[in-house]
Amino acid sequence: MRAIYLLLMLLEKIAGERYVGLRRTAPCPDSIVHVFDVDDTLTCKPIDFDNTGLTKDDFFDASREFPVQQAVLELAQMLVDDGDRIAIATARPPERLTETIDWLDKHGVPFDQVLHSKGHEPSGVVKQEMLLRCQEDYQMVGTLFDDSPYNIEGAKLQGINAVHLRTNEEYWRNHPEYIYRVIL
Ligand SMILES: [Mg+2]
Repeated sequence: MRAIYLLLMLLEKIAGERYVGLRRTAPCPDSIVHVFDVDDTLTCKPIDFDNTGLTKDDFFDASREFPVQQAVLELAQMLVDDGDRIAIATARPPERLTETIDWLDKHGVPFDQVLHSKGHEPSGVVKQEMLLRCQEDYQMVGTLFDDSPYNIEGAKLQGINAVHLRTNEEYWRNHPEYIYRVIL
């Protein structure tokens, strides 16, 4: 735990209107960045895991022990091996930032920065602001990888490529979001 705390001290803070985050490496205007969601994109719910009756906090608590989605991890590593950068963008609340970094490190997920939503707006809106931020820090955003169709819709409104992982379709059918194009 002390090692994690010391590591966090070395990270640079990022703040936007709708998100907060930490940066592990300096912005790189010559590199392409790819943006990965966390829950149900990098994490993989056990087959027998039952969401019924869980609050979001219950779910986030349980997800500390979820395994990594191996294919997504390998894809992220392949992109890094090609010289691209990785940003992690999640609707998890700011107080979960430390445990997100802990989970990413535990599973060997490479990343340059991690962004968490402040939760004031739907994630499909906040994630657009995160993508716009990444466009400022890097040459361009290559692709967003996400399980939320609303986050995918938001990326497309920004003209950014997106890959929809269909790992959580029933949840999103039951939790629709109103999406509009964010202009900064
Ligand atoms: Mg997700």
